[in-house]
Amino acid sequence: MDELLLIPGPTQVPQQVREVMTRQMINHRGPAFSEMYAEIQRGLRPVFGSREDILIFPSAGTGMMEAALVNLFSPGDRILVAIMGEFGSRFAAIAEAFGLEVDRLKVEPGEAVEPERLAAFLDEGGPERYRAVLVTHNETSTGVTLDLRGAADVVKERGLLLVVDAVSALGGIEVHCDDWGIDVLITGSQKALMTPPGLGFAYVSPQAWEAVESAGLPRYYWDFRRARKSGANGQTPYTPAVGLWFGLREALKLINEETLEGVYGRHRLMASAFRGGARALGLDLLAADAVASPVVTAVKAPQGLDASGIIKGLRGNEKVVVAGGQGDLKGRIFRVAHMGGVRPEHMINVLGAIERVLAGLGVSVTTGAGVETARKTYDAAAVKGA
Ligand SMILES: *Cc1c(COP(=O)(O)O)cnc(C)c1O
Repeated sequence: MDELLLIPGPTQVPQQVREVMTRQMINHRGPAFSEMYAEIQRGLRPVFGSREDILIFPSAGTGMMEAALVNLFSPGDRILVAIMGEFGSRFAAIAEAFGLEVDRLKVEPGEAVEPERLAAFLDEGGPERYRAVLVTHNETSTGVTLDLRGAADVVKERGLLLVVDAVSALGGIEVHCDDWGIDVLITGSQKALMTPPGLGFAYVSPQAWEAVESAGLPRYYWDFRRARKSGANGQTPYTPAVGLWFGLREALKLINEETLEGVYGRHRLMASAFRGGARALGLDLLAADAVASPVVTAVKAPQGLDASGIIKGLRGNEKVVVAGGQGDLKGRIFRVAHMGGVRPEHMINVLGAIERVLAGLGVSVTTGAGVETARKTYDAAAVKGA
């Protein structure tokens, strides 16, 4: 039996997506590729909430974070990074590596950067000292989702560029890049888009294209202008990851069939089933419900237990693979992803496994409580939806 993989990327890839990737390669300068390019753009636009084409690179998510920065800024530009966890910190570190002046607005693990707080921070010293604000739509290290629309309003009212890391959000959490005034939003294939790792994506707004033209940081491979130029001919400037494109095309078909509303609703339902089930097992969650992520949940290890013991038990005894905490949260939490091709039985199975592992570690748990709570959540949703 396969392991049940529930880490926040790579995520569960549906069988249909895996199967199409065994096909023979095609010429990336031929008509079949251009047709696939157009089809994929049609599939991506609604997921990004964009009327424009999306740029696609062979890349990890971090590559796209770097790409966003080198295309928008010049050395010495001052930016504000809103930090809710490890990935926010990474965005700030990349910016500093490229010689930008970086200020940080950092909240405690499990908290979100509320739009009011962002507004107050910007206004205190005057927003005009910044060129841009960088945010993380979904902070994967803590399981917290930003009110992106609210943050976008704050940033746009002050005339700054808004750059969004949506690596774990896009495809699982609603976004409307055009209508919300987002300037650059980047993501990767291996999280909520239920495709294997290796593709990076960037949305670029008309205002951001002006910034791309005047940016002074050196770039070649990441140059958004080259990607746009080739895109006009249904191509990419350099060899695309053709096999992954086959998979992506299939994943977008699945999203289209389920409808975006259906996909977002399923993610919310998985989160609510898992969170309820974990609480029924007596576990505490890092993020409060009001800011909790629909795509990943961080669970605190019970008092006196190291989270690594739970993670090890899950992997060794149950063949369930979950993630640990990063940075300061290492040993204190474990993270269960419910993004991408995740289904109700996955949450049932992981809750049952957690219960058995906790019992084995001497934690007193009510037998069946987690699974039963999750089932009730599903049943209630089915009745509501019927
Ligand atoms: C996973 C993730 C990244 C990094 O993606 P890689 O493909 O591992 O480079 C960046 N930001 C967020 C929010 C993520 O979840």
